[in-house]
This record gives sequence, C-alpha cells and structure tokens, in this order.
Amino acid sequence: MDIQTISHWVNGQAITLKDGRIADVFNPATGMVTAHVPLASPQDIDTAVEAASTAWPKWAATTPLRRSRVMFKFKALLEQHADEIAKLISLEHGKVLADAAAEFQRGLENVEFACGAPQFLKGEFSENVGTDVDSYSMRQPLGVVAGITPFNFPAMVPMWMFPLAIVCGNTFVLKPSERVPSASVRLAELLKEAGLPDGVFNVVHGDKVAVDALLTHPKVKAISFVGSTPIAKYIHATANANHKRVQALGGAKNHMLIMPDADLDMATDALMGAAYGAAGERCMAISVAVVVGDKVADELVKRLAPKVKNIMIADGLNTKAEMGPLITAQHRDKVRDYIESGVEQGASIAVDGRELSTPKAEPFKNGFFLAGTLFDHVKPNMKIYCEEIFGPVLCVVRVKTYREGVDLINSHEYGNGTAIFTKDGGTARAFVNEIEIGMVGVNAPIPVPMAFHSFGGWKSSIFGDHAIYGPEGVRFYTRIKTVTQRWPNNVRSGAEFVMPTMK
Ligand code: NAD
Repeated sequence: MDIQTISHWVNGQAITLKDGRIADVFNPATGMVTAHVPLASPQDIDTAVEAASTAWPKWAATTPLRRSRVMFKFKALLEQHADEIAKLISLEHGKVLADAAAEFQRGLENVEFACGAPQFLKGEFSENVGTDVDSYSMRQPLGVVAGITPFNFPAMVPMWMFPLAIVCGNTFVLKPSERVPSASVRLAELLKEAGLPDGVFNVVHGDKVAVDALLTHPKVKAISFVGSTPIAKYIHATANANHKRVQALGGAKNHMLIMPDADLDMATDALMGAAYGAAGERCMAISVAVVVGDKVADELVKRLAPKVKNIMIADGLNTKAEMGPLITAQHRDKVRDYIESGVEQGASIAVDGRELSTPKAEPFKNGFFLAGTLFDHVKPNMKIYCEEIFGPVLCVVRVKTYREGVDLINSHEYGNGTAIFTKDGGTARAFVNEIEIGMVGVNAPIPVPMAFHSFGGWKSSIFGDHAIYGPEGVRFYTRIKTVTQRWPNNVRSGAEFVMPTMK
C-alpha cells in the first residue's frame, strides 16, 4: 500500500518536509500504517508563526463583515465536503461514520456562530458619561494565536477554536493531534477556497517539540488547548510563564446520577450511547453511573448487561457498526490494564470486554478493538473510579441517597460534565444548583453546549479563566479597549487637577 506523507499547511500552501522527524498514522480498524506525518521542529513553528504574523495587520484591518463573508463561504464548502471529511475522520480515528458526521456537524455549528462576527464585535457605547463626554468599549484582536488539539475530535475541536479566532481578526497556527492530522489540512484547503488570505490559517503537525515552540514563541499571544489534564496543566503554567493568554481544557470523569424515580429504559439507552459511543473516547462520555438504591442498581445492571454484550463492533465505515476500535494498540492495552485493576481491587465485573469477540476477519484482525465492559459495586477508592480511562468501560457506583450521590460527584477531581435522570423537577433543580460541574444534563446524558453557548468544565477539567467557543470564546480571542472621548462645543474651562467624576 502507498504510504502518503501528510503536509503542513503554511502561508496558504502545503509544505512537505523531507529531512525532519516523522510519525506513523494508523487506521485503527486494521492496525496498519496509512500515512506519515511530519513532526515540526522549532524552526518550522517559527516559519508558521512568521507567516501568521505577516498576515495579521491586513487581516485585523479587514472589516468584520468581510471576515464573516469568508466564513459563510467556508460553511457552504464544509457542507459540500461533509461526507468526504467524515470518512477521513473515521479512517484515522476509528469512530463510526455516523458519529464522525455528527462531530463534523457540531464543529460546523461553530462556523455558523462565527458568521455573526459583525453582531458580536459591536462593542458598547455610553453617551454622556459626563457632560459632553462619551465612552465606548471595543474588542480588538490579539494577533497570532495558536490551538493545540486532541485526537478524539479531529475536526470538531479545531473548529471550536479557529473559526472564532479568525473572524475576531486574529491569525491562527493549529497544531492538531499527530494521530489524526488529515482533517485539519483539508479544512485549511477549504478555507483558502473560501477566500481566506494566505497566512491567516496555518497547520503544523508535531509533538511536544512543536507545542513547546508555540508556548515560548514571543509572537504567539494566546494558546487554546484541549487534551488530557496533565498536559493541560503544563500548557497553562508554561503559557502563563511566557505571558500568554491561555485556556486549557483537560480530562474528565463524568457521572450520571440515577434517581429511583428515573425512567429506567430512558436511562439505560442514554448510558449505552454516552458510555460506549466513540468507544468511550469522548471527554463528555459518561463513565460512572451513580445509582440511588440497590433495587434500582440491580435492575439497571440487569438491563445494561445484555446490551453491552451485544454492541455491534466493527470498523467505522461499516454502516452497521455501533462502536469502532480504540485509537492505538497502546491505548487499548492501557484500558485493558484498567479493567484488570478493577477486578484486582474487588469491583464485580458484569460484562468483561476482554472476553468478548471483536472483528477477526481480514483486514481487521489486527485492529485496536476492545469490546465494552461493565463494572458494578465500584468503590470511590478504586483506580477505575478515580482515573479517566477513556475507553468503553462503565462503572456503576451504588449510593443510598441523593445527598450521598451529589457529595460523591462533587468530591471527584474532575468537573467536566454530569447528568441527572429523574422525573422530579424539584430534585433536578436542586441538582443543577448544587453540583460543582461545568456542564449539566437533566435527562440528557451528554450536555455539550451548542455553539452559541460556551463549553467548559470546572476543577481539573479546565485551567484558565475562559471556557471555549461561543460568547466566552469571543472574550478569549479579543481584548477590550475602552475609549473616553470629549468633543465639547467650546473648551474654555482650563485644566482640571481633580480626578474626573460624574457631575
Ligand atoms: P493529549 O493530552 O495526549 O494530547 C493533546 C495534545 O497535546 C496533542 O496535540 C498532543 O500532540 C499534545 N501533547 C501530548 N503530549 C504533550 C506533551 N508532553 N507536551 C506538550 N504537548 C503534548 O490528549 P489526547 O490523548 O490527544 O486526547 C484525549 C484527552 O483529551 C482526554 O483526556 C480527554 O478527556 C481530553 N479531551 C478533553 C476535552 C474537553 O473539552 N475538556 C475534549 C476532548 C478531549
């Protein structure tokens, strides 16, 4: 098979390095190397940042209306190429095609939000803050900003960042995950076709070397990061130390609280999709079901177990597939180790994914597949409860009361998403109020906010002061300037030596 080399995208064109380091890109469903991706050196990063920096003054001076027109064209092109990009995502990530298409759609909605730039960049104006004095605030772009993204949403997470950053008047350098590099380059090509000037959007592939070069580059003004918590902490500290604005979104351990009055059919179906969809490789996946009362827990596990055993596992392009492979062989082995530790620490394993069969026919017999696992009687001190597994493993924790459930969720290190399933409005309302988590679902298992709200967890799921995309994204990618101006009819009063106050 032909192994293609994926290009960087700098200054409006594809650039392939010949002598640099490279990494393998796999098709996780076959376990085969399908491409090589160049790993940028600090010099390569510098080239991309310089291109973005050169493009910035003209782009910043382009009117918001013109910038948003590029986004309108980009949106139309994305719709035209949706199937092709969904297939690219599925082939490099492994997720099923319908899920790749859904991710793409959720990303595209951020482009739709970005089309509204003239509206959200309007600023504020106060007439007559003093006699003959008006005051207005405007939001101006930062300059060159960079995004560093994870493997699990090859198109959506980059689109959480660059459409908004660009439409706000910044230029952008994207460092996508080296495991899923192709979608970003395709997006760059389409942006050029939409009329984006060269240098405004650049893609450089790479690993820690490339990230460190971005974090320390004096011309990079802000960093958006989405990935695991240890790296998010590092990004936040390093970018801060280099005087950059930073938003760093980290990992998660999302709990669903199931009350005794919950519609159990609804809760079961919701858990199946939220725990095992995308093989659990979602930062908003539900990985813990907290069930109030033993009777409800027994019934829930009884309903879940056969469904988990029967998940249709196949390569993502198989239209019958419900779950595809994990991203790499190493990650699959790590998830298996977590399952082993759960057994060793005394959780009861209701469904053991290690024992269920996965695709064995050619060409899938070496794919990175692992079937779904269901644990019951999980305790808060167990490793499978404390740590993010990021695989198709659901833990059931039994509690006696609503209060015990809320306290359990609130004391977990992570605070990305959560959900409550109940028929009682008062309980749901109390939960929404008391829970220390950034995104909350009520009878909705994966409460990812729409593009016109903002996305962000609490606690160890985020580092930095701004959530991502939507109105918070606009604040992140712009800085406020406030002007106080006086155009008096006649100035004859002479100098004032006292701090001005409103008279
Ligand atoms: P990761 O942290 O390994 O990698 C994320 C990015 O950081 C990649 O671009 C990678 O190249 C880079 N990177 C990796 N190691 C680095 C290092 N030592 N120094 C500097 N940069 C480094 O994450 P991943 O495995 O790609 O993605 C899965 C993780 O992302 C999970 O923890 C998941 O919860 C999290 N995630 C969070 C959100 C959210 O919105 N909070 C969304 C999606 C994924």
